[in-house]
Amino acid sequence: MKITGVRTLLMQAAPASSGKPTKQVAPAADGVTSKLPGTRNWLFVKIETDAGIVGIGECSGWPRVLERAIEDLSVLLIGEDPTHIERIAQKLQVAMMGHGMLGTVGGGALTGIDIALWDIKGKALGTPIWNLLGGKVRDRVQIYTHANNREFAFSAKARGFKAIKCSGGNGLLDPVRKVAQMRDLLGDEIDIAVDVHGPPWLTPQDAVQLARALEPYNILWLEDPIAPDNIEGYQRLRDASSVPLAAGERVTGIFGERELIERDLVDVIQPDAGRAGGITQMKKIAAMAEAHHIMVAPHSGSLGPVAEYAALHLMASIPNALMLERMEDDWPGRRQTILPHPEQENGFLTVPDAPGLGCDVDEAFVAEYPSQGNVSVPSKPMDERDEIGGEGRLYVQTRIKRAKFFSAGDE
Ligand SMILES: [Mg+2]
Repeated sequence: MKITGVRTLLMQAAPASSGKPTKQVAPAADGVTSKLPGTRNWLFVKIETDAGIVGIGECSGWPRVLERAIEDLSVLLIGEDPTHIERIAQKLQVAMMGHGMLGTVGGGALTGIDIALWDIKGKALGTPIWNLLGGKVRDRVQIYTHANNREFAFSAKARGFKAIKCSGGNGLLDPVRKVAQMRDLLGDEIDIAVDVHGPPWLTPQDAVQLARALEPYNILWLEDPIAPDNIEGYQRLRDASSVPLAAGERVTGIFGERELIERDLVDVIQPDAGRAGGITQMKKIAAMAEAHHIMVAPHSGSLGPVAEYAALHLMASIPNALMLERMEDDWPGRRQTILPHPEQENGFLTVPDAPGLGCDVDEAFVAEYPSQGNVSVPSKPMDERDEIGGEGRLYVQTRIKRAKFFSAGDE
């Protein structure tokens, strides 16, 4: 079997918006919200073969840029045997070396191609990808959703979720008070995670204060408490607090996740299912984590539905699968994009059984939503940027509004 063609399908994963924040409405009983992600794009990759088998994959990590990257890389794929997945990944990494280390764009390109190759292999052998990864450890994969207020907390509980995450969208002010509120609303039966998004506006010293204040609430994890490039800061935090830590969504591949795992700096590793390097790299990352008793909870907040399928196959096959992030049907069009759409049931997704990934996209529907933009547009002018954790801020801006960020203890 030989690869004969590579195609990309890029879409705006929501109707066009001005880039201004839209009020989010809690999901109804069927899980659908009316929130518009605004700047979110999904990029799907289709790899065609001379056997008539077509594989599908997905890339996150700046999809509009990635579309061109895939186009560039496609000349290296034509004529290759698609079943030699590792060989192709090695070839692509050498081809991208001159562009620098494997960042999220390179990782995203590898990911979309890798997922599509696994899909082809599964279809050619007539078996689901989880079977090629060693078989199933579980038939269902737990998912968690986001909840930042009473409306969303009750919605998540009503839909059967066993875990939620407070993420505050673009940033989270006063996370301790938020967790206290959620614990009060949800009791001890539902796990609560907190994501502060790797903020350069929190120093390791701030994060220690935050982590210690969160200790009494027995949270699932504190995610990205400081900027992801501050490994020594993670060590300081690790040494100073017992709160479980999670990180890893912004780096790619085994080399990106290595230090977090090898130095036991996290309890939960969060490779992004659309840019970590694909199923091949995710499996390796999971194995590295397993050797450290670190659990895997793939990041998928910015992903589309094909990468979610890839994560499902991985999570089905590894022992240390914790749970999968899901922006639970953030846009009604998600259901029309992916065929079939995986329905959650009591906070779980059923592992697919069809050969390969077990999904396709509706290309006609995708074509109805052409990409129009792919960067966040702040709603405030620069001179009004003064919030920690708010969207109107500078990248490096610490030591402001600390009382607001840490005010939970006063209530
Ligand atoms: Mg995160």
